[in-house]
Amino acid sequence: MRNELFDEALLDRARDHAYEFLRTVDERPVGARATRDELLAALRMPLPETGDDPAAVIDALAAQASAGTVACVGPRYFGFVIGGSIPVSLAADWLTSTWDQNAGIFATSPLSSVVEDVAREWVLDLLDLPRESSVGLVTGCQMANFTCLAAARNAVLRRAGWDVELDGLQGAPRVNVIVGAEAHVTIHTSLRMLGFGLRHALPVPTDEQGRMRADALRKLLENVSGPTIVCAQAGNVNTGSVDPMREIAAAVREHDAWMHVDAAFGLWGRASRKTRALLDGVELADSWATDAHKWLNVPYDNGICIVRDAQAHRAAMTVKAAYLEQTSGVERDQVDWSPEFSRRARGFTVYAALRTLGRQGLEELVDRCCARARLMAECLAQRHGVRILTDVVLNQVLVRFNDSDEITRDVIARVQRDGTCWLAGTTWHDKAAMRISFSNWATSEEDVRRSADAILKCLEAARHP
Ligand SMILES: *Cc1c(COP(=O)(O)O)cnc(C)c1O
Repeated sequence: MRNELFDEALLDRARDHAYEFLRTVDERPVGARATRDELLAALRMPLPETGDDPAAVIDALAAQASAGTVACVGPRYFGFVIGGSIPVSLAADWLTSTWDQNAGIFATSPLSSVVEDVAREWVLDLLDLPRESSVGLVTGCQMANFTCLAAARNAVLRRAGWDVELDGLQGAPRVNVIVGAEAHVTIHTSLRMLGFGLRHALPVPTDEQGRMRADALRKLLENVSGPTIVCAQAGNVNTGSVDPMREIAAAVREHDAWMHVDAAFGLWGRASRKTRALLDGVELADSWATDAHKWLNVPYDNGICIVRDAQAHRAAMTVKAAYLEQTSGVERDQVDWSPEFSRRARGFTVYAALRTLGRQGLEELVDRCCARARLMAECLAQRHGVRILTDVVLNQVLVRFNDSDEITRDVIARVQRDGTCWLAGTTWHDKAAMRISFSNWATSEEDVRRSADAILKCLEAARHP
């Protein structure tokens, strides 16, 4: 067999390291244990002149994996909203790297183009969004927000008689950008990259659950005129709360504005009959940004942008060059839908996850994470002095201890050192809080109880240091 193309022993070695990692990830400390200095001491050296043995290089990297990585694929990682990987999406990801497709245009990889066509239909069907929408697979929700808002910029300025793609923003009609006061930072990053500037984003106050106040939005809209973009949110990073979509959509329609929804994890609540009502009216928006690498549990990196006005989406992203020989017909050229040119074939993992889970499997995954969140809140709330700060409506739990910033932060630090689980702190309406997120398919009730016990032990220690 011709073997120059691959080194079977080397890949077997990598596979063995992967299996060892996965076999032990459940029982290792969840947070990383190695310091920067320790990792540098193990890995830094002058760039080799002649090159090292590949097996030794793989071994050297793998030797640092258990102490230097964070066990976010494991079941007791509750920090941020990171999600793990269901087995089939990891398997599809291995193949994605093996095939090494450039998913830029149909010609560079027909399979990835077609798989993304199918993934697009499935995502719109599952999330029950307008079926004519265009879909792009991007690196994450930040770039999904960016792409959606680029389409929005194109459309609202086109309606005002301005071609932003040709003429840019200099001298363009002013665009009003309205953003919930608790919008995710990546909305702000996207606005910066799109030339809107941070100072000009008009904030809408939020309520006690972190939801945009529709009455305040109405007032704000009455005071602006001309091209307008409103950024709503489905899934507040702290509370999981969802802005009142139907009311926002009604106000936005009256003003002929564009409604964008940042729904990095919240959008997946559409997949369950139990949480669908919470997201009622989200389908009335013009664009949606979400992530596959969070609640769909595919490996990093994988975000999804969805735009109702496919023409505006394409106009904002498309690339034309004589040498590209893109197809002009029905084939999907991914460069039309995402800000990247050459690109990883992100569709394979999304396709594999959706097909393996099916409608029921995804509903079950969403319900399970929400049930784990409620269980955690119940376990903790039994203890005197523990307060759950907001309603547990989705997969997020916000907790405060002894009504004290100091104790709350101390408990968080102790939990991180303890290693049974990992979670982080936040500031919620000017008060320190512990933030516990559930988006990993593998988290069991037992994991929740064990983690709750560890948190309560850390609370006792913080109270009686
Ligand atoms: C995580 C998150 C983002 C950013 O997503 P990335 O995939 O990290 O780029 C944006 N908005 C919300 C609400 C999020 O939770």
